[in-house]
Amino acid sequence: MKIQIYNGNQIGGCVTTIESNNGTKIAIDIGSNLPSTKKKKQEDLKIEGLTIEGKKKFDAVFITHYHGDHIGLYNKLLDEIPVYIGEISKEIFIKVQRKLVNAKKAPKENLELINKFITFKIPEKIKINDILITPIEVDHSAFNAHALLIECDGKKILHTGDFRIHGPRGKAVIPAIKKYVGKVDCLICEGTTLSRNRELPLTENELQYKAEKIFKENKNIFVFCSSTNIDRIAVLHKAALKARKIFICDDYQKDMLLYIDSISRSNLYKFNYVYNYRPNLLKIMNDDGFVMLVRDNYFSRKMLEKFPKNSFVYSQWDGYLNKEFEEYKSLQEFVPKNHIYLHTSGHAHFEAIQQVCNIVKPNILIPIHSEKPEEFNKMNLENCVIKQLENGEIYNL
Ligand SMILES: [Zn+2]
Ligand SMILES: [Zn+2]
Repeated sequence: MKIQIYNGNQIGGCVTTIESNNGTKIAIDIGSNLPSTKKKKQEDLKIEGLTIEGKKKFDAVFITHYHGDHIGLYNKLLDEIPVYIGEISKEIFIKVQRKLVNAKKAPKENLELINKFITFKIPEKIKINDILITPIEVDHSAFNAHALLIECDGKKILHTGDFRIHGPRGKAVIPAIKKYVGKVDCLICEGTTLSRNRELPLTENELQYKAEKIFKENKNIFVFCSSTNIDRIAVLHKAALKARKIFICDDYQKDMLLYIDSISRSNLYKFNYVYNYRPNLLKIMNDDGFVMLVRDNYFSRKMLEKFPKNSFVYSQWDGYLNKEFEEYKSLQEFVPKNHIYLHTSGHAHFEAIQQVCNIVKPNILIPIHSEKPEEFNKMNLENCVIKQLENGEIYNL
C-alpha cells in the first residue's frame, strides 16, 4: 500500500493518505493550518481528488478529532466523499459551528455538510472496500479523540492522531492499544511536544489541585480556556466545588457540558453545579466570590468590568499570547498581563510516545504533527526505522 503525508513536519494541518494495492484511497484528517507567526503565512492544502481540485479520487475521510487543525478544511472536500467521525465529536463540532453560524461568522451551509458526517462508536470497525479501520479512543484536549488502526494488504498501521496519557482518560490509552492493536508494521505518530522541553507534564489531576488552591486563595476568578476542552473544564468545575465557589458559564457552554453529562457515566463529567449567568446570581457572587469561564467577547468584557477586583486564570497554551501571532491580537488584549497561568499539554510527552512504541513495535515510524521529527531518533527504538516523509512523498509499505 502507499502512504503519503502532507504538512507532517509542522504542528497542525497534517493530512495522511493511504491507498491499498487495489486502489482504495482514504485520508486521515483534513485540518487547516494553525495560525502562524506573520513570517510564514501558508495557503490551505490542496490535494488532487480530495479537496476542490479535480475529480474525486478518495473513498473516505476519517477525522480523528474536532480540533481545527484536524477538521478545518472539511468544507473544501469534494462533495461526494463520505466523512467519518466519532459520534460525540460530531455533536460537539455541531454545537461549535452552530454558534459561529448564529454569530454570522460562518455560512449555514457548513451545518448541512457536518450533518452528513457518518459517525462511529468504539469498538466498531469500519470497512472501506479492502481497508479495515478500527478507531481507538485516546486521551487528548479534545473529547472523543481517536487513534486509528488501519489494516490492509496484510499490513497494519497505527495512526495516533493527537493523544496523551496524562489526562483523565490517559490510563486507558496504553491498555487499549495493547488490546486492539498489538504489533504493527508502521506507526504514524504525533510528536508535538518533541520541540519543547523533556519535563514530565502536569497531569490534569494535579492541575485540579492547583486550581483548587487558586480558587480558595482568591475571591472573584475568571478563567479562560477552550470551550471544547471538556476535561479541563471538568477539573476546573471539580476544583470550584471543593473550593466552595459557584461555577458560572454562558448558555452555549452550559449546553455543551450538559450534553457531555448526558452521554457519560463518569463522575468527572457530572456537571450538576454549573450555572449559566443570570442577574439573580449577583448577590451570591458579590458575597462569596465565584469561578466564571470567560471568552474574548462582549459579555465577558462586561463581567470583567463589573468585577474589577478579580484574578484571571489563563488555561490554554501560552504560545498564543506571543505578540508574533497577529491572529491572536484580540486575545492578547483580552488576557491581562498579570494573569495566573494554569495549563498542561494535550499532547504526549517523550516517554508516552516511547510506551506506545514499546507495545506496537513498529518496523517503520513516520513522524507527523511535529516541528522536530528528528527527535524520534533519540528514542532508540529497536528494529525501527524512522522515516520522515516530504510533502506528498510516496512511501510504499
Ligand atoms: Zn493537532
Ligand atoms: Zn488536537
